[in-house]
Amino acid sequence: MLKDTDVVIVGTGAAGLFCALHFPENVKITMVTKEVADKSDSFLAQGGMCMLRSDDDFDEYFEDTMRAGHYENNTESVEIMINTSRKVAEELIGYGVDFEMNGDELAFTREGGHSKPRILFHKDITGREITSKLLANAKKRKNIEIIEYTSMLDIVCDENSTNKCYGIVVADKENNIYAIRAKYTVLACGGLGGLYKHSTNFRHITGDALAIAYKHNIHMKNIDYIQIHPTTLYSEKSGRRFLISESVRGEGAILLNKDKERFCDELLPRDVVTAEIRKQMEKDDMPYVWLSMENIPEEEIRSHFPNILEQCLSEGYNPIDECIPVVPAQHYFMGGIDVNSDSMTSMNNLYAIGETSCNGVHGKNRLASNSLLESMVFAERAADAIKKDITDEELLDEELFENKYNISDYNDIDKIKEDYKKIILEEIEKEKKRHE
Ligand SMILES: Cc1cc2nc3c(=O)[nH]c(=O)nc-3n(C[C@H](O)[C@H](O)[C@H](O)COP(=O)(O)OP(=O)(O)OC[C@H]3O[C@@H](n4cnc5c(N)ncnc54)[C@H](O)[C@@H]3O)c2cc1C
Repeated sequence: MLKDTDVVIVGTGAAGLFCALHFPENVKITMVTKEVADKSDSFLAQGGMCMLRSDDDFDEYFEDTMRAGHYENNTESVEIMINTSRKVAEELIGYGVDFEMNGDELAFTREGGHSKPRILFHKDITGREITSKLLANAKKRKNIEIIEYTSMLDIVCDENSTNKCYGIVVADKENNIYAIRAKYTVLACGGLGGLYKHSTNFRHITGDALAIAYKHNIHMKNIDYIQIHPTTLYSEKSGRRFLISESVRGEGAILLNKDKERFCDELLPRDVVTAEIRKQMEKDDMPYVWLSMENIPEEEIRSHFPNILEQCLSEGYNPIDECIPVVPAQHYFMGGIDVNSDSMTSMNNLYAIGETSCNGVHGKNRLASNSLLESMVFAERAADAIKKDITDEELLDEELFENKYNISDYNDIDKIKEDYKKIILEEIEKEKKRHE
């Protein structure tokens, strides 16, 4: 079986959906996703999305992003992100996103690493609010088809003569394997938390696009830049770790050692707070430290953090009158497929957006609530770049396309998954050594 489309987008998180929505109705978009469309890390985002509140905040917002990133950020990408933030927020409101308001004005919260409140939010489920509205809008578009339970196993490309991507090979729920031929391919596959035992990410987000990029010699960047979130709810159960958003600390929660004494500044960037917690856990010989919400009024806990409250209660802790145990866990991936400011990879007709890609915005460490924004800013830029050229582009001739891959190479899907995991973990170790 062969399926044809103009643009194939792999992933239905905020990046993939925002990109899809920026094409006109005469461009056929096919989106594939490993799971149901609403099972992406974008749906899990709690804290919010940054926005430049006024022009006077540009310098401080820029500096906060750079400081968090250890000044390894790409300054052009940071400027683009900050300068496009209001446009993205307006577009989201146009798609029906209901950000918290203070009367007629947008309300802002604060998280670690930010010198002032500049984060738009919707309770503590901002990602669900944004991504569900994007998905609902995408489902209404006649030109967008969303195919669920379908995993990309590879890209179809010619690394040598044309250095060009012509589509992807996928497996559906029943493990039927087929190819999707496209003029352009956009990788929006998220991070790699599923490879780690303790991660806040969905288990199926396993960095597949990264392994595929390595396999085809596509340029990669800083694959060892992996962010650990300081505060996830400690649990002895296996599976995804539940995040206690940084905005809880932004609103006044404090970290305590086993004697219930404060031991660090809770609003420093994530990597610094994580290091402090780990040091304290070792000193205390405990598998967690405590987080106290005693400084946050009960009404605010109930209205701003209902999802966190519910999850803590279901695990047997009531944060309104007791401390909760927290521990650092893998959370975000700053490195990825190297792209330029239009999200183009080193291979022609192949784009990468969102957490899969690395345009250098986050440097060595992401500032809280910059990732949903970054995903959408650069997803729109990818769509704009593709739109410029798409009328001149043709699908590769069917016979030539079929000669570029061999369907029988993909029969053993479990082995492919194992190989991909191995490629990524080995490359992370190699890159770590290069950075030493
Ligand atoms: C718990 C949590 C809280 C967060 N809170 C915030 C926050 O408050 N603010 C903020 O800015 N960011 C936050 N983030 C980070 C942010 O949510 C993500 O970085 C961002 O949403 C990434 O979006 P994405 O579209 O790139 O990837 P995702 O939303 O992860 O989507 C990836 C998509 O790719 C698909 N996919 C993956 N591999 C394949 C494959 N081989 N074949 C087919 N499909 C595939 C998946 O099924 C999924 O649809 C949080 C993340 C987590 C986990």
